[in-house]
Amino acid sequence: MAETTRTALMLIGAPGSGKGTQAKKLKDKLGYAHISTGDLLRAAVKAGTELGKQAKSYMDNGGLVPDELVIGLLKEAIAKPEAEGGFILDGFPRTAVQADALDAEVTLDKVIYINVPFELIEERITGRRMSTSGHVYHIKYNPPKVEGVCDVTGEELYQRADDMPEKVKERLDKFVAETQPVIPRYQAKGVVVEVDGVGTPDEVFARICAVL
Ligand code: AMP
Repeated sequence: MAETTRTALMLIGAPGSGKGTQAKKLKDKLGYAHISTGDLLRAAVKAGTELGKQAKSYMDNGGLVPDELVIGLLKEAIAKPEAEGGFILDGFPRTAVQADALDAEVTLDKVIYINVPFELIEERITGRRMSTSGHVYHIKYNPPKVEGVCDVTGEELYQRADDMPEKVKERLDKFVAETQPVIPRYQAKGVVVEVDGVGTPDEVFARICAVL
């Protein structure tokens, strides 16, 4: 049965639209749990779990991990004590089946659609660099102090396999075909706010805060 007691927010947008960056900022401001299925899957791959082994090839190729795997992951994450006070979904749902599963569990208070023109996405994604602990940089827009090294942990930065230029089109196609069609169901419930995702992370964050 859907519950109404805790705040449930969702960030939706194309890959590279800044969902992860904005979700982290919202978490810091509001204290809600940040639930990123992409981060959870990358952690599973790194830990070499059965789920990680099953998910890896889909992820590396820019495809979507099968619904039943990510739905299980999502249910576990929202049942954790950290999520009791509220949570921010980042990268889930990505398909109608996932949205059905989510709607059976929670009622969303707000869906923030971060809109970035596709022409800008490629540069954003291919310039992205990560540390294994999840800190995210961009070689041009948010470079680390020392090239190739995480400011926070000192780890060597890496480029996600699915952030390579040849994978970006595949991911955008998936977004258009599978994820975008999910938005109207939340529009029908009156909970969608669209935010212009062009600008610095702080500029976009200010727009999000203004509509929350
Ligand atoms: P992200 O960090 O959100 O860009 O996710 C990285 C990759 O993990 C995606 O390209 C997919 O392969 C996979 N993934 C993350 N979330 C989902 C989801 N909700 N459904 C299917 N695959 C997902």
